[in-house]
Amino acid sequence: MPLKKQIAIDAVLKAMRLCEQVQAEMVSTDAIQKIDRSPVTVADFGSQALICKAIGDAFPDNVVVAEEDAQALKENAALLSRVTSYVNSFTKETVSADTVCEWIDRGSGDVGKFFWTLDPIDGTKGFLRRDQYAIALAYIIDGIVQLGVLGCPNLAYRLDAMDAERGCLFVAVRGEGTQLYTTAGDFLEQVYISEETHRFAESFESSHGDSDAHSKIAEVLGITESPVRMDSQVKYGIVSRGEASLYIRLPNPAFPDYRECIWDHAAGMIVVQEAGGTVTDANGAPLNFLAGKRMRENRGIVATNGKLHQHVLKVISSQLSVVG
Ligand code: AMP
Ligand code: MG
Repeated sequence: MPLKKQIAIDAVLKAMRLCEQVQAEMVSTDAIQKIDRSPVTVADFGSQALICKAIGDAFPDNVVVAEEDAQALKENAALLSRVTSYVNSFTKETVSADTVCEWIDRGSGDVGKFFWTLDPIDGTKGFLRRDQYAIALAYIIDGIVQLGVLGCPNLAYRLDAMDAERGCLFVAVRGEGTQLYTTAGDFLEQVYISEETHRFAESFESSHGDSDAHSKIAEVLGITESPVRMDSQVKYGIVSRGEASLYIRLPNPAFPDYRECIWDHAAGMIVVQEAGGTVTDANGAPLNFLAGKRMRENRGIVATNGKLHQHVLKVISSQLSVVG
């Protein structure tokens, strides 16, 4: 795992820099609409191209299951040319647009015995708001996440310190704990959950969960602090660092058929687990990363400091019966 860890860290750091560069130069027309209407940006494609290239070069036979593919890009010459020029500012040799599409499509693998899963920008809406977003990469063997790297370019070293420096990279290896690095790749600290914090985290986008139910559950748990609302797997990061005791994501009743994507949770889950926390779905079942790109068998997500976990699950089931 040491080589995989280093390659993953370097690739995510590079993708973080690309995302920051795009964000610094971003104008509102940078968003195009995907079929599911979530905005996709130059940075999503650029990030995926750089990370898939790095994995492909280091481990040519490794499978990557990533969120994007180059289809929409191939049909939009102007966008492709911008993505190519951003990618080229991070590569040793200048490459063609076709090569960039090839790298992006290295992410079109299928879930299997060994694979990487990648969300090149998790929380695209947060990215567009210049708020929180993450680059999330995980390596999975036999359904068990072994390595998670979570790049959080806009996350401060301390959530509550307004003037703290920004740019955090969480790295978790199964059995080795969770570490925090700077965006320069320097080790900052080992991170641990907290049993003293009483604060919950939920999505900024209320349509991604059931915020009424979240508030009700927090109330029963005696959590009086207002929730931290933020986009992306950064929420897992703040639970791992003890800045929230609970990340709750109950299915939104308006979207009963929605199933969570593996790349939205694999890296975040191991970051919390290795910091001492617990992650299951809302019924207490482990997250199943072998059921396909969508976690068909899971409903919602509950990530806690561990101590709270069983209690939270009981409160959820008493409030909502079984989440189905
Ligand atoms: P977050 O910022 O935590 O809300 O997570 C962003 C992710 O939410 C996106 O990557 C989408 O895959 C996912 N998403 C989109 N629609 C829904 C929904 N109805 N319920 C839960 N998650 C969703
Ligand atoms: Mg995502």
